[in-house]
Amino acid sequence: MNSPYLMNTYARFPVCLVKGKGSRVWDDHGKCYLDFISGIAVNTLGHAHPTLAHAVCRQAETLVHCSNLFHIPQQEQLAETLARLSGLDRAFFCNSGAEANEAAIKLARRYWHDQGSPRRTIITAEQSFHGRTLNTLSATGQDKVKIGFDPLMPGFLHIPYGDIETLEAAIDEDTAAIMLEPIQGEGGVNMPETGYIAAVRELCDTEGVLMILDEVQTGIGRTGTMFAFQHEAALPDILSLAKGLGGGFPIGAMLAKETVATAFTPGSHGTTFGGNPLACAAAMAVIDTVEREHLVESARVQGERLLAGLNDIAEKHAAVHAVRGLGLIAGLELDREAAPFIIACRDAGLLLLLAGPKVMRFLPPLNVSADEIDEALAIVDRCLP
Ligand code: PLP
Repeated sequence: MNSPYLMNTYARFPVCLVKGKGSRVWDDHGKCYLDFISGIAVNTLGHAHPTLAHAVCRQAETLVHCSNLFHIPQQEQLAETLARLSGLDRAFFCNSGAEANEAAIKLARRYWHDQGSPRRTIITAEQSFHGRTLNTLSATGQDKVKIGFDPLMPGFLHIPYGDIETLEAAIDEDTAAIMLEPIQGEGGVNMPETGYIAAVRELCDTEGVLMILDEVQTGIGRTGTMFAFQHEAALPDILSLAKGLGGGFPIGAMLAKETVATAFTPGSHGTTFGGNPLACAAAMAVIDTVEREHLVESARVQGERLLAGLNDIAEKHAAVHAVRGLGLIAGLELDREAAPFIIACRDAGLLLLLAGPKVMRFLPPLNVSADEIDEALAIVDRCLP
């Protein structure tokens, strides 16, 4: 089934999806699945949402691309909207999560350069995931994705996630920024204790270092607030977004406070494709729909239902070691390898993904219904030992 013309970068499921509608997708044999992967936290509005489809079609018929050499009204509108929603001031648009984090790392270093006291080190967490480019791979706290890519980039220090004392001890005069995910998605749906992100904010203020939050996976409503940092009112200095922002159309964004954002000037950073009219029209359609259909609130309500159901399952199945989650990102940690149960769920019509070897990860679209949550839970219940 694997094409000999493709590089072998993914251990693909033996399934070819050909269409989708809402929370459901169909394969090329006509089999229907409930999609609790959402393209890895991407399909915010589910599949084939008419508003997104129409916005993309309309913009494609008008102007797809023109480059950042020109003013782009769609980009300006999206930046203003993200500023309103986040409380940050300026945006830089790119095409992926890794690029958003690259931009964040560059901006942090450039900021300190402009202060006249260059600081280079970015502190990140063990088990973090920040992307696959050399900088973001170096920032990532998982050895398995780094094998064979030496030399990695210097300037990153990894500390245990969720431990404020170790973090404090790791800061020195070369620390430019602390970069964290509010919830570690790829690392296993790892959640710090309530108050950790706010404590990091306080520490950054006390020590005078920048706070970067990577909300590539948690941003745009997924955790039941527009951005996960809003659970603790801990506004970062720099925020990275991607995945859910375009609802499937590739777009990333790096937002920053005015004082930091001004470190980027013409020539200091850029991208040919980033923030083109088509990508921005798609992201605007996603955000408009999230707001109009109250999908942040819906993610919170349906997320509570999902978590309650997973906790019920945990009571019944001794193989479940832990349940974690917030809004519509959830993880069921087993006492054994989770892959066979992911396959069993898929065969039974539910798409889930792994987060580390033992965690089954749930990332349904934000407009998933209560019935669909119940249907997914019933399948998991049936498939677990
Ligand atoms: N940051 C986080 C938290 C992610 O979960 C991911 C992807 O899973 C990335 C960055 C990288 O994003 P992309 O694959 O769009 O480069």
